[in-house]
Amino acid sequence: MKLDLRKIYRFDPIARNADGSLPSGGDIYYECTGCKDVVSSVPHIVARCECGNLSGKGGKVEITAPDKVNPVRGKLK
Ligand SMILES: [Zn+2]
Repeated sequence: MKLDLRKIYRFDPIARNADGSLPSGGDIYYECTGCKDVVSSVPHIVARCECGNLSGKGGKVEITAPDKVNPVRGKLK
């Protein structure tokens, strides 16, 4: 069963790094603008967004289309 992170966290948009790369960290998530799924920026279990733009495991996320990703900070509700 798919875990809906939006039920647990409130997500606020954050800025990209100055060089245009995406920030990462324990409280940072990537929102796919294609399918609106949210994936941890440091996933320890296999994580994949609905459309496949984001797929991660082992603490790293592979991004097919970086321009279709919004970095967000997650706070527990
Ligand atoms: Zn997606």
